[in-house]
Amino acid sequence: MKIIMSKYLSYCSGVSSAMQKMYNSIQWGKENNKKVYSLGNLIHNNRAIQKLNDLGVIVLEEKDIATAIPGIIVLRAHGVRDDLLRWILKKGFIVVDATCPIVIQEQNFIKEADKKYHIVIIAKKNHPEAEFLYSVETSHTKSLVSDVADLDNLENEKPLFVVMQSTFPLTMAKVIYEKLYKLKNDKREVVIANSPCASTKRRQIEIEALSKSTDCIIVIGGENSSNTNSLKLHAENFGKPVYRINSKEEIPHSLLGVKRIGIATGTSTPTFIIDEILETLRGAYSET
Ligand code: SF4
Repeated sequence: MKIIMSKYLSYCSGVSSAMQKMYNSIQWGKENNKKVYSLGNLIHNNRAIQKLNDLGVIVLEEKDIATAIPGIIVLRAHGVRDDLLRWILKKGFIVVDATCPIVIQEQNFIKEADKKYHIVIIAKKNHPEAEFLYSVETSHTKSLVSDVADLDNLENEKPLFVVMQSTFPLTMAKVIYEKLYKLKNDKREVVIANSPCASTKRRQIEIEALSKSTDCIIVIGGENSSNTNSLKLHAENFGKPVYRINSKEEIPHSLLGVKRIGIATGTSTPTFIIDEILETLRGAYSET
């Protein structure tokens, strides 16, 4: 069995920085005898979260803030609503903001857009980044678009200002862009402020090349990780079997006999999981 690795593995810069801020906070919490929280799961990988829990980090949900003993709280890379942030500060927490600079830039695009525009946020429903962008406090009207069909439901006639979630799948983004360009050609003003972030794009472009030179693809990452699932979805376009796994136990038995396996990871996949899976593949499966 030959294993071919993607050039882009493990954490992106935003997640790496959020994790570093968390480790610094854990150290500070120890030295100052303060509780250390993350607001919701810091990253979308349950095994990475378990390791943080083992170091004493408490995952705090919004509904529990009112009754929690204040301590240091790290905000996740994909942003936190302004009103929620104000409330956390009011409750006496020390806030460490780990929002990725790219997501802050998306927020600023919305804040600074001329008020004549209707803001279109292209993002997955219920994703924290979608919630964050939708909650930006401006007087614009806004719509959340998760699918090309949602563009048919934009009722008002205002010009459109479009901001996209950093990890939105490229294939879906392409279909939505085509429809937006059609609206533009029909003389509606459409401004497209951004596209998926470089880290997301690089991994999706790379997985296409990887699919061409291998017999199947393994995407390592959490089942609740949006970027991991987007990467898997994108890889499925290239005709090879694609598996998403997050532990050595999930390695599919059908890989026995496969000659070339491509390995890619989401942007919230820790290296210890990648190493564990590679070691198992190189051991048990190496004779096939
Ligand atoms: S996926 Fe992109 S936008 Fe999201 S945290 Fe990583 S670098 Fe930042």
